[in-house]
Amino acid sequence: ERLKPTSTVDSVCGFCATGCSLKVHLRDGEGVNLSASPAYPVNLGMACPKGWEALRVLDAPDRATEPLLRGEDGELHPVSWEKAASTFAKKFKAIKERHGPDSLAWLGTGQITCEDFAFLGALGKFGMGIRHGDGNTRQCMATAVAAYKQSFGFDAPPYSYQDYEDSDVLVFVGANPCIAHPIMWQRVMRNKNKPEIIVVDPRSTETANAATTHLAIAPKSDLSLFYGVARELIAQGHIKRDYVDRYTEGFEGFEDFVQEYTLEKVSSDSGLPVSAIEAFVASIAGGKRVSFWWTMGVNQSYEGVRLAQSMINICLMTGNIGRPGTGPNSITGQCNAMGSRLFSNTTSLLGGHDFLNEGHRNKVSEILKIDVSNIPDENCWAYDQIVNGVESGKIKGLWIIATNSAHSWVGQGRFRDAVKKLEFLVVQDMYHSTETAQLADLVLPAASWGEKEGTFINSERRIGVTRKVHKAPGKALSDFNIFRLLAAYWGCGAMFKEWDTPENVFKILCRLTKDRPCDISGLSGYGDLSAKGGVQWPYRSEDQDGETHRSLFSDGKFYRPGCKAIFLYDHPKPLPEPTCSNYPFVLLTGRGTSAQWHTQTRTAKSDVLRKLYPKNVYVEVNPTDAERMGLASGSLVSVSSRRGVVKAGVFVTPTVQPGQVFMPMHYPETNWLTKPDFDPHSRQPSYKHCAVQLQPV
Ligand code: SF4
Repeated sequence: ERLKPTSTVDSVCGFCATGCSLKVHLRDGEGVNLSASPAYPVNLGMACPKGWEALRVLDAPDRATEPLLRGEDGELHPVSWEKAASTFAKKFKAIKERHGPDSLAWLGTGQITCEDFAFLGALGKFGMGIRHGDGNTRQCMATAVAAYKQSFGFDAPPYSYQDYEDSDVLVFVGANPCIAHPIMWQRVMRNKNKPEIIVVDPRSTETANAATTHLAIAPKSDLSLFYGVARELIAQGHIKRDYVDRYTEGFEGFEDFVQEYTLEKVSSDSGLPVSAIEAFVASIAGGKRVSFWWTMGVNQSYEGVRLAQSMINICLMTGNIGRPGTGPNSITGQCNAMGSRLFSNTTSLLGGHDFLNEGHRNKVSEILKIDVSNIPDENCWAYDQIVNGVESGKIKGLWIIATNSAHSWVGQGRFRDAVKKLEFLVVQDMYHSTETAQLADLVLPAASWGEKEGTFINSERRIGVTRKVHKAPGKALSDFNIFRLLAAYWGCGAMFKEWDTPENVFKILCRLTKDRPCDISGLSGYGDLSAKGGVQWPYRSEDQDGETHRSLFSDGKFYRPGCKAIFLYDHPKPLPEPTCSNYPFVLLTGRGTSAQWHTQTRTAKSDVLRKLYPKNVYVEVNPTDAERMGLASGSLVSVSSRRGVVKAGVFVTPTVQPGQVFMPMHYPETNWLTKPDFDPHSRQPSYKHCAVQLQPV
């Protein structure tokens, strides 16, 4: 009887960027169970294990239930919210006064709502005058952002999930949707066109095994491969000249550039036989609706932006864009990475604007009714530059919100050493037990997904509402209310007079986007969004046509000057860390399961999810290497890189090629080993390739 629901509310899931809608069944306002929403256009009645267990992770014993302040004894002690907020203001203001605005920074997340992001970004930059802020979205989709911005003039993933069903050739690059985006994969399975599914990946992932073709390339040879494919398409006359002439620029230079990527060169770079490359070209040439889909294998690379653009270039030159079933499509990772792209006030000025554009600054100041002098006229540091700033002592105060940097940051040992130099570290999180919260001077206990409301924007640009279905434990507050409290204690509360509820902030955000590519000024509030089953941007007042999905660029108009997309390219760079006799294996990293999320911060709290995944870190080793080294599944090895040494269980499997090993990202050990290299355009870290040694223990 106690668990018998009396009402139901629809709420968007708070894990991944698929953005499934869940029906949360309530008793006395508390979620007692949930099921997948059958009619929502994203998930059509499906959910993955993480979604099904979303309520179970909220009642963990290590939830942060009261603010904690580190005392002179070096321990964290409970304090009141008044003490926590006044200490935050006193410490950060003192640092800023002594060392200037460059001495403070925040690191946010892709896991909070659009309204939370907007509040954090506006409070941080406009209210507190903190110059530098970035988010963990730098680790997941910064490369796609930079690639789209440069090629199209705006960060605009062009697709809808319906495109999975409409394509006849789907090319997945560095992506494993079978486990990373299982509901999107189900959309592929619904495709009735008997599509060719081609997976480009060094590893025989679950998706590669389900594909019609697996191109098991040498790690980091994909840029050469796509230039070679472009060369062959040009040589064989498979170019849509009309499209290229009318809607793009820079093709002639690209045509010359790719000439050196002969079949023989690409075969030698990638390890693929010439016949496999020719067959790949024939598939693209013969496809009527060809789509490219990528995730972290592309984004998390020292040359990810040019790699993403190598696929954009192929789509542009073959006219595979702006039509159903086509597109160069980046699949986002976190539930609200897209919201962060538009509203976090870090890389872009609120609402898809530009800090360097005076007109944009004036528009934002007018809508927010703040003095334009509060809006910075320069871009701020990215995540890695903030970490460098901490390391060099320039940054003295750091505020980390809903991310576990001490686990997830590339080459995490350096991060952990760097934060010891801070004068004051604030961590705002739903758990006090994360590796990062344990390092904090002040822990601010935050409500989780399900304990607050707001909006998320998923990978296909769909804005959905997430609802409060659970009471936050103890004295934990929603991020939104923490920001309101800190604004008051900082003395800038008046600036946020109208920011009294998440829905009112959402209405402000809708107004801010007016006349930008992401214009959602046609929306009136959460009720409107829920009634429509989520809405994809753009959604202006004239877009209220009842369309259930839409793809961008169907009119051939891009957001660059002259409305033309541009071909961009550079030659591949040498590997930052090639293997050698001391470190003879390539370490690949990635997701290991659909049952865990990122650093397992939340998902490890579910008994069900824990049972679906090995408790301890493991390393996949090819049988040939295992035999040579006398390793068996279940034995222990030490895995060492130039950054550190960890122990891992051996899993002997042909999933990895000889000379390569794979470790999942979900365990804290993995990022002791990874190497901090960054794409020069996006500043996204390159997690996917470094040199390691294995030693039996
Ligand atoms: Fe859907 Fe992603 Fe949530 Fe799973 S984690 S239910 S795929 S949104």
